[in-house]
Amino acid sequence: MATSHNAGANGPTHVDAVIVGAGFSGLYQLHLLRDRLGLSVRLLEAADGVGGTWYWNRYPGARCDSESHYYCYSFSRELQEGWQWTERYPEHAEIRRYLNYVADRLDLRPDIDLGTKVTRADFDDAANQWIVQTANGGRFVSTFLVTAVGCLSTANVPAIPGLDDFGGDWYHTGHWPHDGVDLAGKRVGLVGTGSTGIQAAPVIAAQAAHLTVFQRTANYSVPARNRPLDEQTQAWIARNRDETRRQARRTTNGHPFDIPERSALAVSADERRAIYEAAWERGGLRFRATFNDLLTNRDANETASEFIRDKIRSIVKDPQTAGKLIPRDHLYGTKRPPIDTGYFETFNRANVALVDLKAEPVERIVEEGIRTTAGTYALDVIVFATGFDALTGPLFGLNLHGRGGIALKDVWADGPRTYLGLQTPGFPNLFTITGPGSPSVLTNMPVAIEQHVEWISACIAHLRETGASRIEATPQAAEQWARHVNEAAGRTLLPMAASSWYLGANVPGKPKVFMPYAGGMAHYARICEDVAARRYDGFAIS
Ligand code: FAD
Ligand code: NAP
Repeated sequence: MATSHNAGANGPTHVDAVIVGAGFSGLYQLHLLRDRLGLSVRLLEAADGVGGTWYWNRYPGARCDSESHYYCYSFSRELQEGWQWTERYPEHAEIRRYLNYVADRLDLRPDIDLGTKVTRADFDDAANQWIVQTANGGRFVSTFLVTAVGCLSTANVPAIPGLDDFGGDWYHTGHWPHDGVDLAGKRVGLVGTGSTGIQAAPVIAAQAAHLTVFQRTANYSVPARNRPLDEQTQAWIARNRDETRRQARRTTNGHPFDIPERSALAVSADERRAIYEAAWERGGLRFRATFNDLLTNRDANETASEFIRDKIRSIVKDPQTAGKLIPRDHLYGTKRPPIDTGYFETFNRANVALVDLKAEPVERIVEEGIRTTAGTYALDVIVFATGFDALTGPLFGLNLHGRGGIALKDVWADGPRTYLGLQTPGFPNLFTITGPGSPSVLTNMPVAIEQHVEWISACIAHLRETGASRIEATPQAAEQWARHVNEAAGRTLLPMAASSWYLGANVPGKPKVFMPYAGGMAHYARICEDVAARRYDGFAIS
């Protein structure tokens, strides 16, 4: 294995590649570049531990909603056989333990610098090198720079006036204190009803004296039906590892289940209801896979949306509260659909209230709590489950400057432009894992991450085998890809959800551009393979 070269106490560290981020993406990227390609690599991570998403998100109820046996790496039989999940959807602590187990088993820690936030990276055109600077004064010089900074890692705390006046404590779910927060006896306000808020509400309601949920956009949700994994299920998982991996790789969304070739409109109303009921009972994201046109045909989708609205009406006892919880301004699945454990049931508790911010918008935060146009809600704690500056936020946080000093922020001022989500013209040798223009956020992400990481590693191997040292997406290829990303989105109902973070709509001032590639994971992987087979068509290599 190559070792890094440190030029001296105050000099920069020279390596072949710098990776930023120690979540699913960065850990696997480090393993492949170091152990398969033999490169010298430093992985820089802002947090004091590995795990990425699962290092930061420790809020009450935080767990995955991809099922555990496929929300994990599948590239190594040894890793798989050395780990057993306890639940269908494990809690954050178990996923964090898993990623620490991976870091140890692959002996990754010696090449990871924790507590090291990257604050700027500049491409030196003449030297063909990236110069990476960190908040603690470190400097790293490398040929390749791989961003594994995640797409949901920059917390979005809304700029509500008066936050500093609040007399209680406030937290964002994506920066939850490691020692937890004692909510017993507290009046808690939870802002946000996305996947996070919907997971957190039932758990907070059970701990706190009182919970007020501040809802801006009502959301759909389907029961998760979490359960411990019994011996029989564990044995099934072990027997079916290879098939699970194969299946997850041939589907649209990286989940190992096929979507039947049937339209929601091609069956009778009774048959449709029976299919939805069965999916509701089985629980989980597979509800989306009941019919093949839920995300492409408005009328088909309306049948699923209305089924869930009916469920809300039947679960929530107070009709007024049920009315507020029923989503009407978007269709099921056009925003990332949450799954829950008792979310709608939570509103039947005596200690839970719902505030509809569409009817009474927030005016400001005051010392006692949150003031809306209808009055002040007294609170001891505010929990912001207000999501993330998704996809572009973490990349802008790196303060990237490409050829001629151009800033990524300026290049993407009107919205991100990438080739395959993996590279941006003007930024040679910079690879982005789960970047805008990739399908990752529409998938079970470990599948997309493994594909990206393997493609990037093969690309760097190709450069080295052919004696090349620079690769850069051409502007034409990026232009074409942007058109293709738009066309793919246009064939779905996804861009119709006006408040979706897929469109950047959750962050004021962010350009409204549909960022993920909606053409399907398996199709995307074939395109990437084809590009590589055609000697990296669309990239300039020198
Ligand atoms: P991350 O895990 O986000 O890691 C990025 C790392 O980069 C972080 O540790 C961060 O500190 C670091 N970093 C960022 N900027 C810098 C910088 N400037 N300097 C140094 N370090 C930096 N996906 C699914 O497919 N299924 C699920 O069930 C699922 N559940 C989720 C639940 C929650 C609560 C959230 C927030 C996301 C969930 N996701 C899920 C998406 C999840 O983000 C991905 O599955 C996956 O964990 C992403 O891994 P990653 O390594 O790409 O990024
Ligand atoms: P999100 O989906 O963006 O939801 C944020 C919520 O906060 C929305 O209800 C939003 O309302 C609301 N909000 C934002 N700004 C607000 C403001 N100024 N005032 C009032 N309300 C405001 O964020 P998230 O729930 O954290 O989820 C983000 C993504 O992370 C998910 O889509 C998913 O990909 C991932 N995630 C996954 C899991 C899981 O798999 N288990 C769990 C959590 C998160 P609007 O809708 O009106 O904008």
